[in-house]
Amino acid sequence: MDTIALLKFDREHIWHPYTSTTAPLPVYLVKRAEGVYIELEDGRRLIDGMSSWWCEIHGYNHPVLNAAIEKQLHDMSHVMFGGLTHRPAVELAEKVLSLAPRSMEKIFFSDSGSVAVEVAMKMALQYWYAAGKEEKKHFMTITKGYHGDTWNAMSVCDPVTGMHGIFHGCLPIQYFVEHPQCRFGAPCTEEDIQPFRACLEAHHDTIAAVILEPIVQGAGGMWFYSADYLKQVRELCDKFDVLLICDEIATGFGRTGKMWAVEHAGIEPDIMCIGKALTGGYMSFAATMTSAGVAEVICSKDPYVFMHGPTFMGNPLACAVANASIDLIKSYDMEHKIGAIEKQLREELAEAAAWPQVEDVRVLGAIGVIEMKQAVNMGEIQAMFVREGVWVRPFGKLVYIMPPFVITPEQLHELTSALKKVVREL
Ligand code: PMP
Repeated sequence: MDTIALLKFDREHIWHPYTSTTAPLPVYLVKRAEGVYIELEDGRRLIDGMSSWWCEIHGYNHPVLNAAIEKQLHDMSHVMFGGLTHRPAVELAEKVLSLAPRSMEKIFFSDSGSVAVEVAMKMALQYWYAAGKEEKKHFMTITKGYHGDTWNAMSVCDPVTGMHGIFHGCLPIQYFVEHPQCRFGAPCTEEDIQPFRACLEAHHDTIAAVILEPIVQGAGGMWFYSADYLKQVRELCDKFDVLLICDEIATGFGRTGKMWAVEHAGIEPDIMCIGKALTGGYMSFAATMTSAGVAEVICSKDPYVFMHGPTFMGNPLACAVANASIDLIKSYDMEHKIGAIEKQLREELAEAAAWPQVEDVRVLGAIGVIEMKQAVNMGEIQAMFVREGVWVRPFGKLVYIMPPFVITPEQLHELTSALKKVVREL
């Protein structure tokens, strides 16, 4: 098929994320990608400002990650995980658990972030079932959250910005409290935490767990909130005997400047989800971790097992590349590397805060956000970015970048310059 026929077939038959098949926005045909560059079929090279939705932290086509997959391919690409195990999975479990908060001792591998969230929610429900408190079967969360597109994950996404509003009447009903207004770096006042405390106080008897994205709310609003709020959430969950699930799928592996966002608050969750950058962005893979205590309770009552087991659980190719990705992370001075990106983002994006079309500029770790006063026109702005030689995909009022960690200061400068040029022209 030539390029025109290929794009025509795509337009007529393929669903892209959150798009129409009858009136789709244009898509750009990618030929290959290397380092921080995405190369289009027509030869244009775009600096990737998205890390392919937070995953591709080491850049594309990385020789070390390629080699890890190639080597594993010759041993086996897959074997079932029921009744079998393998070196790549055991090595990965050991690596992840040794990096994770200390109380995380048990790990469940799955295929995607949304599934890792489903698994976390099932763990919480099975925990309370085994503990003899079956009435604890609801979840509590904060607005502006995003946890994935599967059924229960959807039920804890923001009802408005979570992109799932039309399913509202069909989803399990959960408890939502207003997300924290206190910004990252600011203290959390009594007024900030009061709605959370009040909801937990009133409903803890029926709440299995609180689920939230620690510190950075991603796809639901790109908002960075006070570490002090998260600390108080932990204390309140303990006080009211409710589990805390931290969804680190977007924040994990250094994106916020720490290995895990929970480190900003010095807390540990009861259950934690990871995904996205776990394989260095090479393929879909995720995991849910929990403490020995939670796992013991789950397995203490009939059916004595945790009721989940996906076909591609512990896929060896994914484990092999995840092992290589974690080795790369360990070889960086992570906090220094992300700290340098953060400093440059702060310096270079700051001026946009004064522009009349801009509501707010915020930076944390390797995440830079320009919040506009009005929602942007996706098709229009996407074309403007491509013209400037960068790949940035905003949503709503949020024009943001989260570059691969391997971006050089010069490439980052090109990216922020293009970002500012486009925003100024709006
Ligand atoms: N949780 C968070 C915080 C996410 O950002 C996402 C994906 N954007 C998910 C869960 C779902 O992950 P996946 O798309 O791999 O299912």
